[in-house]
Amino acid sequence: MTESVISNRILVVDRSAVSRELVARMLRSGIHESEVITCKSGAEALRLISERHFDLITTALMLPDIDGLDLCQRIRQISNHHYTPVVVISGDADTRLLKEGYAAGVTDYFDKSQGYHAFTKFIEEFDKRNQWLVGHILYVEDSKTVAAMTIPILEKHGLTVTHVTSAEEAYNLLNGMRHGRGEEFDLIISDFYLEFDMTGGDLLHAIRARMHYSRQELPVLIITGDEDTETQVELFHAGANDFIVKPLVEEIMMARIRSLLMIKHQYDTLQAQARDMEKISITDTLTGVYNRRFLMDSGETIRQDAESQPLWVSIIDIDHFKHINDSQGHLIGDHVLAGLGKLFLRKIPDATPVRFGGEEFVLLFPNLKPRDAVTRLEKLRRTVEALNPYKIPVTISIGAIDASLHPEKSLNELIKLADQALYAAKENGRNRVYIAVDEEQVIPIEEAARLMLAGEKLARTEETKVVANNSRLY
Ligand code: GH3
Ligand code: MG
Ligand code: MG
Ligand code: MG
Repeated sequence: MTESVISNRILVVDRSAVSRELVARMLRSGIHESEVITCKSGAEALRLISERHFDLITTALMLPDIDGLDLCQRIRQISNHHYTPVVVISGDADTRLLKEGYAAGVTDYFDKSQGYHAFTKFIEEFDKRNQWLVGHILYVEDSKTVAAMTIPILEKHGLTVTHVTSAEEAYNLLNGMRHGRGEEFDLIISDFYLEFDMTGGDLLHAIRARMHYSRQELPVLIITGDEDTETQVELFHAGANDFIVKPLVEEIMMARIRSLLMIKHQYDTLQAQARDMEKISITDTLTGVYNRRFLMDSGETIRQDAESQPLWVSIIDIDHFKHINDSQGHLIGDHVLAGLGKLFLRKIPDATPVRFGGEEFVLLFPNLKPRDAVTRLEKLRRTVEALNPYKIPVTISIGAIDASLHPEKSLNELIKLADQALYAAKENGRNRVYIAVDEEQVIPIEEAARLMLAGEKLARTEETKVVANNSRLY
């Protein structure tokens, strides 16, 4: 959700106490965290406005002293209210409002005859239309005089401005941003003629052709002193979104900025939605860990990834979960699963936890040396044992395998071997950890720890006891 621009303070001017209260109430409920102040005349309104800043003003057309359009005109003359939106709420579509409203500086008007339900909708829409003047501008201008005039205007409208005096500096900042470093910008405003080697046109070309920023991802507004059509055509070809001609007219500049920021914000919103969708599609809803689809799509990549080695593959199954369901109810069973998911995410953030099936999880541990694997798997088992969610004793059995000892095996094959170890853990009393050495041999974790302490590798030896060699088949 984007935040409302019409936050904070709203002034409602209307001679009728009933209308005032109705409008105020709807604004309060329609706009988040708003403070609505009401008054009944133009004089009172002007006094309030001169005392403090309002973010939105609504006025009736007929006031006891002056009329709504005159009030609007007077508001526009008050220095800190040049741009405050003024909405006229009128009883009927007055022709005077149509003809003179614009000149008086009315931002919008609402026809009360549409009913108050429509007003709530109108305010929502109004808010949306006006909410885009939030953004970080990279402003490239070599003239100190022009910059000194322009920056305060941009800042007055709520924008954050980073000013540089050469395209080279701008290029360095943008290159940093491209690589995830430094400040993030929403819009570039650049003078076309600049000192030094790079012109605004060169910068533009670099942004589009070298850094591959699209017009939506990073809009560029060029300021040119040149009205020559050829230059302008060239600018569009080079990837400018728009241009304005010097001398700058504040209203024109702000209108262009507003529409370019809207493009940028829409782009960002779409990107964020796509990221959310992507995340949802690979996440298990109940437990918050990855789902099986993720494992199918990306598991093998993780297994092959050089940066993940040595990788351990483990499979975890809740002991007697059917009994938990039967005795506590399926819903509590769900809570237990969710709790376990949360525990994995919190306590072992370096691992990749996947809900493999009902009450089974696959956990991939990257960069895990055998000795640490033994400690951490045992610690995980104990942490779950100590958890006691809803005062229910919950334990898990774990089967695991050191993938680095089996470079030829796929992730699926490794999971199958880890599952054989899990089966042995179940067979041998549950609530324990077993390690798969290879297809024929699994050993309890204590045995694995002993071997490692003795400096031996976790490889098959004649002395190690074959604990289980029967496997569950898929
Ligand atoms: P074991 O120690 O041998 O693993 O015993 P178990 O009872 O855990 O084994 P089993 O695989 O026979 O039973 C798993 C149970 O998990 C059966 C199923 O009803 C339950 N289950 C699977 N998915 C969910 C779920 O999403 N929510 C709940 N509450 N239960 C589930
Ligand atoms: Mg210049
Ligand atoms: Mg189970
Ligand atoms: Mg099971």
